[in-house]
Amino acid sequence: MAFSPPLPSPHSQCQSCGACCAQYRVSFYWQEAVQRGLDESMLVQVSPWRVCFLGTEQNPVRCVNLEGTVGSCVSCRIYEQRTTPCRSVEAGDEKCLQARAAHGLGPLR
Ligand code: SF4
Ligand code: SF4
Repeated sequence: MAFSPPLPSPHSQCQSCGACCAQYRVSFYWQEAVQRGLDESMLVQVSPWRVCFLGTEQNPVRCVNLEGTVGSCVSCRIYEQRTTPCRSVEAGDEKCLQARAAHGLGPLR
């Protein structure tokens, strides 16, 4: 979930991936949504204190903020406002590789 660092970068493959944004429920405390100025229309309440991004509460998962085609060319519509769980996935880590595998994508080069 690290889409647009300048090239060259070890994360440059995120821009042709997006698998983690179409694999996991992306939930966080409602207060983070307020602090980041996220519009309510992109959120779903999942508990008294937590919300998730619309589209990540369902199956198949796809975050409402993900644009493009997974495995081809993607971007995050709210990249500067993306949340803690978005930022916690690092290209090449376990969650990344699991998400990529689930979408038929191999390990990072
Ligand atoms: S699954 Fe990995 S490579 Fe793909 S967008 Fe997420 S962090 Fe980047
Ligand atoms: S907000 Fe952006 S980085 Fe976070 S899951 Fe959605 S598309 Fe991915």
